[in-house]
Amino acid sequence: MRLDIALGLSFLLLTACQPSAHNVKETRFLLGTLVEFTVFTDNEDAALDAINQAAQAMQKVEDTFTTFGSVKNSVKAFNQAKVGQTVKLEHDVELLLVKALKIHQQSQGAFDPTLGALNELWAFSGESPASSPPSPLKISRALQQTGVQNIEQSKGGWQKKVAGLKLDFGGIAKGLAIDKGASVLRKLGFSQAIINAGGDMMVLGSHGNKPWRIAIRHPRQDKPVGWVTIDKDTSIVTSGDYERFYMYQGRRYHHILDPETGYPARKSQSVTVVDSNATVADAWSTALFVLDIPNGKRMVETMQSMHVFWVNAQGKSLQSSGFKLHQ
Ligand code: ADP
Ligand code: MG
Repeated sequence: MRLDIALGLSFLLLTACQPSAHNVKETRFLLGTLVEFTVFTDNEDAALDAINQAAQAMQKVEDTFTTFGSVKNSVKAFNQAKVGQTVKLEHDVELLLVKALKIHQQSQGAFDPTLGALNELWAFSGESPASSPPSPLKISRALQQTGVQNIEQSKGGWQKKVAGLKLDFGGIAKGLAIDKGASVLRKLGFSQAIINAGGDMMVLGSHGNKPWRIAIRHPRQDKPVGWVTIDKDTSIVTSGDYERFYMYQGRRYHHILDPETGYPARKSQSVTVVDSNATVADAWSTALFVLDIPNGKRMVETMQSMHVFWVNAQGKSLQSSGFKLHQ
């Protein structure tokens, strides 16, 4: 009996000295939002180093794609170029543009990487956001400076066919940054982690031997609509009309634009996409936000890897057949 107690005690002391796995958390300001890194590990120093490297990879994506600030990149060079002038896009930009154009086609035009002029006119991003909508005349003029048919690839680069056309990767580059950050963590041996970029995230592995539990935000209330459980590498991305918006004469104006009308899309309040790839999830959350829900749902049901949750314009929840919401 005495021996048992003594053995038990020494076991306790021994385990107390071993570092045990716990959440290592760090927050950075990247991609215009707070990015929270959580790594479940027993090696805190190595995790902090991995988080630094992941953050650097994400910063590089921001610098490569941003249309703001003083950093030079090939997106800005293309946007400033004249009609017919050939601009060589950086390798990552060309890859993402090709991916964006494919999703443009698959989404029947709902996702459009050529909306730069229109996004600038609405001015939801940047240093001095607008507080009232632009005139219909300005919107129809800006619409003429958009459209995937107005860019073309030629030997040595890309050209625009109409003056003022600008590329904008705001609906997809955050996903790419998340994918790159996650791949750095994985490469450095951290397989249980979350990168959360303002609600858009990549979840790696499980949380110890339990699944991660991820809450989905309610678009109109300060509480979750429900939650999902995740135990393998999965990204969850939401596009919502509550992220960047203003009210004007009783109407909500926000930053996700319908490429057909030039006005903020009004079919949904939020769309959450679950997919193994954050770049794909980011672009599709924007596309599905624009599409009318039955049409979007039909598209999603043909893509087996993607699961989607909508809150429609009236605040009603809908989901694709593979989406498992817990309440
Ligand atoms: P967030 O970046 O707030 O998470 P989204 O991923 O939905 O939201 O992207 C919105 C951004 O994408 C806008 O700020 C704009 O830069 C760009 N954008 C707006 N409408 C579209 C669209 N129909 N297709 C592609 N990009 C868009
Ligand atoms: Mg998006």
